[in-house]
Amino acid sequence: MKLATKPNILILGAGYGGMVTATKITKELGHNQANITLVSKHDYHYQTTWLHEPAAGTMHHDRTRMQISDVVDINKVNFIQDEVVNIHREENKVSLKNTGEVEFDYLVTALGAVPETFGVGGVFEHSFNKWTVNGARQLKEHTEYMFAKYNNEPEPREEYLTFVVAGAGFTGMEFIGELSERMPKLCKEYDIPLNKVKMYVIEAAPTALPGFDPELVEYAMNLLENRGVEFKINTPISEVTADGVTLKDGEEIKSSTVIWATGVRGNPVIEKAGFENMRGRVKVEKDLRAPGHDNIFIIGDCSLMINEETERPYPPTAQIAMQQAETVAKNLHALIKGESLHEFKPDIKGTVASLGGKEAIGVVGNKKLFGTSANFMKKMIDNRYLWILGGTGLVLKKGKNPF
Ligand SMILES: Cc1cc2nc3c(=O)[nH]c(=O)nc-3n(C[C@H](O)[C@H](O)[C@H](O)COP(=O)(O)OP(=O)(O)OC[C@H]3O[C@@H](n4cnc5c(N)ncnc54)[C@H](O)[C@@H]3O)c2cc1C
Repeated sequence: MKLATKPNILILGAGYGGMVTATKITKELGHNQANITLVSKHDYHYQTTWLHEPAAGTMHHDRTRMQISDVVDINKVNFIQDEVVNIHREENKVSLKNTGEVEFDYLVTALGAVPETFGVGGVFEHSFNKWTVNGARQLKEHTEYMFAKYNNEPEPREEYLTFVVAGAGFTGMEFIGELSERMPKLCKEYDIPLNKVKMYVIEAAPTALPGFDPELVEYAMNLLENRGVEFKINTPISEVTADGVTLKDGEEIKSSTVIWATGVRGNPVIEKAGFENMRGRVKVEKDLRAPGHDNIFIIGDCSLMINEETERPYPPTAQIAMQQAETVAKNLHALIKGESLHEFKPDIKGTVASLGGKEAIGVVGNKKLFGTSANFMKKMIDNRYLWILGGTGLVLKKGKNPF
């Protein structure tokens, strides 16, 4: 008699998509129904959506991360800390940098995104562009170093205190919100008058926060301008250099700190593996499988789905990554049992952007939120994620005070 072997489920990336898949699949499947393996670069999970806070120095980076073994049941999920180098789609295996090859029967790819440069030169060489724990830590340390350096030069250099944020989308606005909120305290700490600091947000599109409600955009811009932020809208950057940025109209802004936040493309592993893609994102089927692959799911920032109402792609968000992960957990179960798969239907509950301190803007349902009520909602959204991942215990340990 031949014993049925257990299928191998391999999950790549321990971000929103990967973590929710791993925690949900252990609940969906009974004991011994599958071998589940999770691979990620670090032994911790970090919350990308909080990273603007440690990057600006308004939160310690440890608050944004947690040990994977504290959240995922390691009796049921084998964790490998390693870097995914390639996915061999036809051979059902994945190459890892140190471990070698790992085979799978079912694959969930949730490797997140990398910065999109839109062809602008110098981004990787001269800007802060890594929205990771290490990237946030480096930007915070660099900012403080610039302040410390300013008063130690024979001729103080303006560029040390000039901060350029490229991109007035969600990430750029949330980051400048935190930085501008912290600025008076930083100036006091380093004996620097606040009026010596320059903060720019430069955006190529005709508006900040493209696609957001215009009244909320106006509220956000007014608030940030009152904190000293200068917006340059409809102003493409043509190059990032060692001295700052050059704009399309030829103007140069000297800055020692350029922060790149113009948008993302899917993880380069997607392109390397040869999946058909648009900017590193795979247009997935309704059940979230990669076209032509019955056993490969792609979710989160590596996936692309068209919103049928607007006929435009859904923006890559944690909200969608988590919802996709719940569907994928169900679909893995269905595949193993030989049942039909579920279609993924996004349920967009709203969008809230923090602006530093107790300020935020957002739309929840049909309701526009400003200021403290939006801030309350933002913190509740952050706490809800922790609850989905690790229940009340994780909210109490890592959650945010909404008041
Ligand atoms: C500052 C900021 C604020 C944001 N705010 C919001 C918000 O308020 N609401 C919202 O919905 N979205 C927000 N987003 C977007 C959101 O963070 C992403 O859409 C979400 O993280 C995507 O989830 P994911 O699972 O695809 O990838 P991620 O959560 O980025 O996880 C990817 C994981 O894969 C790992 N990894 C990457 N490459 C490799 C490799 N080669 N090998 C092994 N492991 C690898 C990474 O270390 C990471 O753990 C924000 C993003 C940023 C940067």
